Amino acid sequence: MRILVVEDDENLNRQLSEALKESGYVVDQAFDGEEGHYLGETEPYDAVILDIGLPEMDGITVVEKWRAAGKGMPVLMLTARDRWSDKVAGIDAGADDYVAKPFHVEEVLARVRALIRRAAGHSSSEIVCGPVKLDTKASKATVNGTALKLTSHEFRLLSYLMHHMGQVVSRTELIEHMYDQDFDRDSNTIEVFVGRLRKKIGVDLIETVRGLGYRMQAPSDVR
Ligand code: CA
Repeated sequence: MRILVVEDDENLNRQLSEALKESGYVVDQAFDGEEGHYLGETEPYDAVILDIGLPEMDGITVVEKWRAAGKGMPVLMLTARDRWSDKVAGIDAGADDYVAKPFHVEEVLARVRALIRRAAGHSSSEIVCGPVKLDTKASKATVNGTALKLTSHEFRLLSYLMHHMGQVVSRTELIEHMYDQDFDRDSNTIEVFVGRLRKKIGVDLIETVRGLGYRMQAPSDVR
């Protein structure tokens, strides 16, 4: 899962980005509205954390422009505590949720998880596919109750596939959601990660769809 953090306060941006990375996300950072707007329009993100007060272009304008351009990724706005009008304006402009400053990073993480989950059509923090269970809260996965020891790349791959169970996901899509913009991407590595993940899971749940990509079985296929 790949997240964009748009926040001009460098300390806060770093703090959020580090917490997100620790939770297993890949993160791109932007420090003003124009840069943030550009990234959100050109790169695919699973969620965006967007400050409302930004240099160059304010957060409300950024989200308005994305929505007008048909960009539907979940957006969590960061607002000032006592500015209720900002919260209303943010939601009206197309944001999905907001957190008022100052906040606990844990709250932001919980809201981001919920936004990503809901965007993928899952209402619970645990996503289950047959014997495999993904705990989005703890960033952990189990098979038949036994913890899977996954590298960060393997976890991101499993997480993306499980959020999109039953759908065919192309290699390009996987790459775009597993690496940040600066990473040297190589689509052959995806095949290697899928192979390792299959071995670790031990149950045949990830299907190769020739010429198209991969498909994690839907729970209804498993039974
Ligand atoms: Ca700001």
